[in-house]
Amino acid sequence: MKTDIAPSAPDCLLLTQADVVSTRRHDLLERNRLLARIEAALARMEHGRFGVCTQCHGPIPMQILEADPALARCPDCRNVC
Ligand SMILES: [Zn+2]
Repeated sequence: MKTDIAPSAPDCLLLTQADVVSTRRHDLLERNRLLARIEAALARMEHGRFGVCTQCHGPIPMQILEADPALARCPDCRNVC
């Protein structure tokens, strides 16, 4: 049986205003967190502690810093906590 009514969008594709606000809030929180990490890395640079783990004070491998220059802890310390 053919109908003239277009199929409706699935419920999962409908975003409410609350969904949009929640997504934007989440994005802003993520950006703020990233900015805080970058500012902390810049402060470590200013104090000559960039590349030094903030927990064990050992070196953070350069290849890991190249992937994420804002890292504060070495891989061993990151895996513990
Ligand atoms: Zn460490």
